[in-house]
Amino acid sequence: PVSKSFAPTKSSLDAITRINDDRIINLDQGDPMMFETYWNQMGDKCTVEISGYEWMSYFADAGNLCWFLLPGLGDAIKRLHRTVGNAVTEDRYIVVGTGSSQLFQAALYALCPPDALRPVSVVSAAPYYSCYPQLTEFLRSSLYKWAGDAYAFEEEGPYIEVVCNPNNPDGIVREPVVNRDDGKVIHDLAYYWPQYTPITFPANHDIMLFTFSKCTGHAGSRIGWALVKDKAVAAKMVEYMTIATIGVSKEAQLRAAKIMQVITDSYLDLAPKDVELFFEHAKRAMADRWKRVREIVAKSEMFSLPKYPLEYCHFSSNYTMTNPGFAWFKCKDDIGDCSNLFRRHKILGRSGKFFGVDAKYCRLSMIADEESFNLFLRRLSAIVETNDVPS
Ligand code: PMP
Repeated sequence: PVSKSFAPTKSSLDAITRINDDRIINLDQGDPMMFETYWNQMGDKCTVEISGYEWMSYFADAGNLCWFLLPGLGDAIKRLHRTVGNAVTEDRYIVVGTGSSQLFQAALYALCPPDALRPVSVVSAAPYYSCYPQLTEFLRSSLYKWAGDAYAFEEEGPYIEVVCNPNNPDGIVREPVVNRDDGKVIHDLAYYWPQYTPITFPANHDIMLFTFSKCTGHAGSRIGWALVKDKAVAAKMVEYMTIATIGVSKEAQLRAAKIMQVITDSYLDLAPKDVELFFEHAKRAMADRWKRVREIVAKSEMFSLPKYPLEYCHFSSNYTMTNPGFAWFKCKDDIGDCSNLFRRHKILGRSGKFFGVDAKYCRLSMIADEESFNLFLRRLSAIVETNDVPS
């Protein structure tokens, strides 16, 4: 019990509110803490217990191409995709990774011939996810090099195009833009889940990357997976993973498998319905956040946000709208640098410059925790109401 002297008084609560009002809100990363509320309601339904003697070996499934993938996680991934209808899993190899960030690098390694005379160009249509150039350039590989915006790509020779769908940062539905015979495509489907976008078809590409981080919000587990059509490509991705980290944590795989099973069971009526279904909850929460942000933005001409079409979602059996994990703000011309404007109001976002476009754009996370999001709305309202344009 809290002793009386520690009970908050009105003035101490006012002081906390003032400190809170003054704190920096970090909306730069897409840390998916908004889903914590849901998993909190689920109590111990997803608890995983592991004894000291369990899961000790490097190996998870020695006979499988991806020898470090736990069969239980492979099954849970396939069941989840079948339930949501967002990707074809039949006749695919599953490669598990430490987040899909690691699988992106594994895919680059797998798609580049080891004996090429020049590094293969890696491109993505701007605005592209800011980590693609970072991950491509980081180790100064002689296998591949970052070649920027796919729309501007004119170099001859083999290339790799990364297509993020729906796109981070702007939420737009994307297709490859270079479309040459000597190209390979990596489809990053981190946000192809019902809470972010209508599920219009089961994706059926050669290499598809998914991440547990954005699917359920468990970014800390660091689990991603690739669905790969070609056996040789999958084998090279496994080779990368074997050399880089000798596989992926089994504890993380077990937890991911359990959470995926709980979600899928609830959709298949295999579990009591005492809590709202995950994707219904997440969809409602995302739509509500977007509605609130759009209402504030509509009050002035200072900013604009992309508009998305209504499309039929086969998972929800109705017309739904894209509600991306990020808000792609565009400031009107006389404001100039959009992220600077937000920074002055102690809101950290990522400038358009990191996505290959102008600084009048800024990406802000829409999936932060409840408190940060509410504080963001308050500050956004204040910016709009005072028409805070730099002089
Ligand atoms: N792709 C996209 C488009 C992302 O936004 C992210 C996370 N921000 C990732 C991949 C990587 O996710 P993780 O490494 O957490 O699996």
